[in-house]
Amino acid sequence: DDRISRIASSIRIIPNFPKPGIMFQDITTMLLDPKAFKDTIDLFVERYKGKDISVVAGVEARGFIFGPPIALAIGAKFVPMRKPGKLPGAVISEEYSLEYGTDKMEMHVGAVEAGERAIIIDDLIATGGTLSAALKLLERVGVQVVESACLIELPELKGRERLGDNPLFVLIKSA
Ligand code: IMP
Repeated sequence: DDRISRIASSIRIIPNFPKPGIMFQDITTMLLDPKAFKDTIDLFVERYKGKDISVVAGVEARGFIFGPPIALAIGAKFVPMRKPGKLPGAVISEEYSLEYGTDKMEMHVGAVEAGERAIIIDDLIATGGTLSAALKLLERVGVQVVESACLIELPELKGRERLGDNPLFVLIKSA
């Protein structure tokens, strides 16, 4: 698909952000190119439209950029998966490990119902800790996660393995 190469070249790499040694993949430059942004959304919509998906779960923060247009286009609800203390209502939460320490992800109670079919969306999978926490939250309330979807995968970090049998779809694999 020649749309992928345009998307890939619109993503900028910032060395040593947020700390020395990290090559940060910055998708904000892709958002400045309306064709690349639209192609990105279209590629996900083409994949998930008509698949009986009623939930698009977006991971804070960049899952909030890509999730809502996909949700609208496929006729699904959008559910934000947030950092702790941000959601105002009753939440369920899932702790996950980071390189140093732990973090938590939260979802509103009642946002989804058991038996719904969901996809999870984020910009990038590195170690897979973030996506696996989102996966666990949804599975705990009986939601079937059809697939997780990201723009970028860093395959060297083997995040895919952390998702177990759950499928992962990505547009771009990056070194
Ligand atoms: P993981 O939990 O190790 O898979 O890290 C993925 C999370 O960290 C996602 O929410 C990403 O948005 C964020 N992240 C890690 N590295 C990058 C990067 O290079 N660019 C953008 N986001 C990143």
